[in-house]
Amino acid sequence: MKQHSITAAPADAEARKSVAPVVCYPTDTLPRPNLAAYREIRSDLELTARVVVPPREAECWTVPAGHFCRILSFEGPQVGDLNLFNAHDFNERLYTGKTRALNGTHVGLGDQLFSNLPFLRPMATITHDTLDWYGFDKFGGGVHDVIGTRCDPYTNNLLHEGSQYHHCCHSNLTRAFARHSGKSPREAEAYIHDVLNVFMCTGFTRDTGQYFMKASPVRPGDFLEFFAEIDLVGCMSACPGGDCSTEHSSDRARCYPLVVEVYRPMRLPVGWTMPPRNGYDGSHGL
Ligand SMILES: [Zn+2]
Repeated sequence: MKQHSITAAPADAEARKSVAPVVCYPTDTLPRPNLAAYREIRSDLELTARVVVPPREAECWTVPAGHFCRILSFEGPQVGDLNLFNAHDFNERLYTGKTRALNGTHVGLGDQLFSNLPFLRPMATITHDTLDWYGFDKFGGGVHDVIGTRCDPYTNNLLHEGSQYHHCCHSNLTRAFARHSGKSPREAEAYIHDVLNVFMCTGFTRDTGQYFMKASPVRPGDFLEFFAEIDLVGCMSACPGGDCSTEHSSDRARCYPLVVEVYRPMRLPVGWTMPPRNGYDGSHGL
């Protein structure tokens, strides 16, 4: 439990607390994608790859720039922990912190997924989400968060002394990325980063601000779709938490596979060009 406060509130406490918030990053200067142009080309797509991610395992796949990628629920409710890499430079990868700062805690239709510094550019644009009806529930929960990290065996060991569970998302992603990249598992582990929690339903408790999860509303046939802005390698784990209604980091939850499909459109979105690396000169004033 969190400690109760020990400092007496000042006389103007209520006035200080009632100051209205301002959004940290005003998004009116953020270049927004032309969603209509992306969606216009979705009607004529050719399936080019299909990957099944087994339960409590992870798989990698590639998505060429200008292609669509769908992550589909299959057989039963299941959460996926997604990493994204630039296919030509694995040092450029999904930056959930800045994606969260720019879009909000959960991502959906029209949001862009950004890469880390110094690259900071859109890697993918979300073009369809069959769970977009969910919004935020009465607990403050939403779907597809960029606030979680990924379940990992180190935290599990911290919380359950002596535990050596090997199928946390972090380990699954490490093994899959090692296979894909040819790197040793030790080397590959350093590339695994905080995830987009596909289909996971999460939020922060209103009273204590703690990260919570609840049963995912996803059902077989639901999917999240994005357009690849650059050549991508995706890597996703079918979380050992299954629908994340109770626990993760164990073999107790019911888990299902996830399916990934890659589609080639017949043409590119009108006006689309591949986003360049970030335009800051990198000199830091030196
Ligand atoms: Zn997990």
